[in-house]
Amino acid sequence: MKFSLTILGSSSAVPTASRNTTAHVLNVHERFFLIDCGEGTQMQFRRFRIRFGRVHQIFISHLHSDHILGLFGYLATQTLIGRKKEIEIFGPPDLEKFVRNHFSLFPESLLLPIVFHSLDQSGVFKIFEDKAVEVISFPVKHRIPTWGFLFREKLMGTNNLLNEPRTFAYCTDTIFDPGLATVFAGCDLLYHEATYGQKELNRAVSTAHSTARQAAELALLAGAKKLVIGHFSARYKDIAILLDEAREIFPETIEATDGLTIDIPPRLPSKF
Ligand SMILES: [Zn+2]
Ligand SMILES: [Zn+2]
Repeated sequence: MKFSLTILGSSSAVPTASRNTTAHVLNVHERFFLIDCGEGTQMQFRRFRIRFGRVHQIFISHLHSDHILGLFGYLATQTLIGRKKEIEIFGPPDLEKFVRNHFSLFPESLLLPIVFHSLDQSGVFKIFEDKAVEVISFPVKHRIPTWGFLFREKLMGTNNLLNEPRTFAYCTDTIFDPGLATVFAGCDLLYHEATYGQKELNRAVSTAHSTARQAAELALLAGAKKLVIGHFSARYKDIAILLDEAREIFPETIEATDGLTIDIPPRLPSKF
């Protein structure tokens, strides 16, 4: 049973020749969930051969352009290729207005049904579940209202009695917040932004972002099994400095690169 994350964009606000802005696809038992949708996300689907039609739920962390500008093209293409099946979008309360205002200028260009679900900043909530997964939202600290997401696998049937549910936590964009460790304690994979290196700590704090070292500290505090860092500032031509910084604290750290798929293997109970 698949549980894997594919990185579609690993840059922060400014895309580079090799890194698109933020977007990810999580595959849980061949159900696909799009998490954030930076500009050009639909091209990344093509490039990495992921079928649009397999995504029925989209989760948007916040209303900064590097996380949402791809929605227009993505949704317009869905209409052009004749999609009739409903898409659910979970995001900030103003997201629906943002999307519908755009398409109101082209009244016939968005025919597919979209159901918007507003996220709630007041706590930790289960926002979605189906046969394969449940999704929990939690607020993080950024310059505008922003949410992280925890995806927890659901295991059904006797074939899975020996396995334990796998979990994936998604945290971007956010200032370092050790309080989050309890929300996704023991997660199998943590995606945490590492926009800057520790030398740029002041800049990270003033822009409400994190350093690679801080991402690693949070992974350690949470007891995560693996950390993937991403959302890199375009100022870093080579990410080695960020990776080294994180691995000093948390050796099981990997660098997000566009097109990378991280498979999370089935998890056996500790008594085995
Ligand atoms: Zn961002
Ligand atoms: Zn942001």
